[in-house]
Amino acid sequence: MGRLYLIEYDQTPDKRFYLCRSCQTHIASAQDFLSSTLVNIFFEKVVNVVIDDPVHYWRDLKDRTVANVLCIKCNILLGRKYVEVEEPTLEIREGTIRMEQKKLLFWNGKVLVDELPIPQSEAFV
Ligand SMILES: [Zn+2]
Repeated sequence: MGRLYLIEYDQTPDKRFYLCRSCQTHIASAQDFLSSTLVNIFFEKVVNVVIDDPVHYWRDLKDRTVANVLCIKCNILLGRKYVEVEEPTLEIREGTIRMEQKKLLFWNGKVLVDELPIPQSEAFV
């Protein structure tokens, strides 16, 4: 079995990022945060994940083609990637990723927290 090469963000005060809650693999930089709801966080891109093959694509309730997104280390289902979207929006369009907030932790520059992500305005600074 091959070795996993994981991308790691610096756990320093000037960095903010999201981690897998179950194994703490680094998953997304705050720079790639798009928006959030109470249960989901939308990202432009994520790292250290496995995206399901086309044969496993499925259609969600709004008829968008999506692929499951799994943590590369612990294999837990973290969210889904939008593959085909008829009516794109800022956060829901081809290539963006929707993550379940309860599956992630957030490095806020000081500690790992289990809370709402940073406001959108801050994310784009
Ligand atoms: Zn994990």
